[in-house]
Amino acid sequence: MKVEEKIALCAIKAHEKSHIELKLELCKQCEKKICIQACPAQLYSEDPDSHLLKVEHSGCLECGTCLIICPSGAVQWNYPEAGFGIRYRYG
Ligand code: SF4
Repeated sequence: MKVEEKIALCAIKAHEKSHIELKLELCKQCEKKICIQACPAQLYSEDPDSHLLKVEHSGCLECGTCLIICPSGAVQWNYPEAGFGIRYRYG
């Protein structure tokens, strides 16, 4: 089974409040924005007009990659509140 097929089995109950906060003043100074390529769920993007980084928390796999890989320490990440977030299922 491919990773994409396994992820499709998961259920996510997103909280209205994001569990990921970005220190945008640090993101503005970051040239590589490696989080955009590194997030396996492709949740990071750059606004084409403002060029500000944004993250869509509702599809988060809770892997922690963005927190670990950010060279600026711009990602503030906590697990979602109890009862929210991803529930992994394996076929
Ligand atoms: Fe993407 Fe993983 Fe960060 Fe969630 S924890 S936003 S899936 S890199």
